[in-house]
Amino acid sequence: MTAREGSLEAPTRHPLDWKNPEFHDESRALDEMHRVFEICHGCRRCLSLCNAFPTLFDLIDESASGEMDGVDRVDYWKVVDQCYLCDICYMTKCPYVPPHPWNVDFPHLMLRGKAIGFRKGTPTQFRDKALSSTDRNGTLAGIPVVVQAVNALTRNKTFRRGLEKGLGVDRNAWLPEFTSDKFRAYAAPSQAHPVRDGQRTPGKVAIYATCYVNYNEPGIGHDLTKVLDHNRIPYVLAAKEACCGMPKLELGDLDSVAALKEKNIPALARLAREGYAILAPIPSCALMYKQELPMLFPGDADVQAVQEAMFDPFEYFALRAKDGLLETDFSTPLGNVSYHVSCHLRVQNVGQKTREVLETIPGTHVHTIERCSGHAGTWGVKKEFHQTAMKIGRPVFRQMGEHPQGEPNWITSDCQLAGHHIEQGMGEAGRSVEGRLAHPLTLLRIAYGLQ
Ligand code: SF4
Ligand code: SF4
Repeated sequence: MTAREGSLEAPTRHPLDWKNPEFHDESRALDEMHRVFEICHGCRRCLSLCNAFPTLFDLIDESASGEMDGVDRVDYWKVVDQCYLCDICYMTKCPYVPPHPWNVDFPHLMLRGKAIGFRKGTPTQFRDKALSSTDRNGTLAGIPVVVQAVNALTRNKTFRRGLEKGLGVDRNAWLPEFTSDKFRAYAAPSQAHPVRDGQRTPGKVAIYATCYVNYNEPGIGHDLTKVLDHNRIPYVLAAKEACCGMPKLELGDLDSVAALKEKNIPALARLAREGYAILAPIPSCALMYKQELPMLFPGDADVQAVQEAMFDPFEYFALRAKDGLLETDFSTPLGNVSYHVSCHLRVQNVGQKTREVLETIPGTHVHTIERCSGHAGTWGVKKEFHQTAMKIGRPVFRQMGEHPQGEPNWITSDCQLAGHHIEQGMGEAGRSVEGRLAHPLTLLRIAYGLQ
């Protein structure tokens, strides 16, 4: 095959043809893996991104022929297992993505592999389904009399050993605590501010809380409503909300993704058509609506309406600032902030909006690290992957502690799960940052001097 290096045209992405019976045909999927792996073997640009590529290149280099034909097709699944679908290889590295004739979409090929594996039934399916059922976990664990027991057990070493043995959840991995005071139940109602549309931003906001904020860290949601109120932006909560489906997508459970889409999209599409900006304070959830669902359901007008209305909160605030409609009456300098840009925010292609907004706060020095932390949703807590997740994150753990102005006052990441993973990694490396991890929305609320 002769083709020029890279493509001169803007990258595009083909929708995922997951309803075509060929998509789940194992033999055809393995043929496609062979084709793409061959291209990767000749390229190797992605070696340092994650563990999928080192796994692939080791398989090739250690085979008898040292080429793809020496690799047993059964071993292709080892590569699939190591991918956590961050999309970074597609969005930031690969010169052979469409419209290049080689048509390489490594993450979508891995997703196809995961979908085939899910339908066949993997040995860890019980654990994987349990971990990815974030709504059910949050509802059950958040029952008032249950929640303290669940949180105490999460911290109990004997229980964690049992959980590792029985379910394959690594005993050392950080796990989120649950709350009975769910964000959606306790969110302060909006003040009746008049709507001020900007040139780039709608003047009213609908909050898609996300499972994590609703069930685990509602404070992030309350910080968002306080910042909106301070900026005189009226807000509502999405009338109905279920998990966005990202944890199910990461398993390849596409039927569950479709079922969740049916629960969420009608209410969100109504808000989009009423002119609301929809804000999701967890990057993976925003990405689900911005990129993944439109790829799975091309031509669905409701999905498209939600895609167009969905914003990362700091993308919205940065545009609001450009519209001249963001308050700048910051009263509290933040000092040294070590800021991690999560992969699922990077691949939204909106630029470093969190950094831009935080840098407008007087007395604030932002040190930005744009590299994978290794947490990757539920992937990094699984026993077979946790050590790799810590290894991938090591450069980030180190760089977060190397703020050029001295000791960081704050550690922050748009993805709060990545933030906790980084906090754990820094602690294990002897650089405890206890009490200094805060979500960027919390930092913005502090900078405004809001309680
Ligand atoms: S999508 Fe992310 S985890 Fe998967 S192969 Fe690409 S860089 Fe690695
Ligand atoms: S995904 Fe693209 S850039 Fe990465 S190794 Fe394969 S061919 Fe090269």
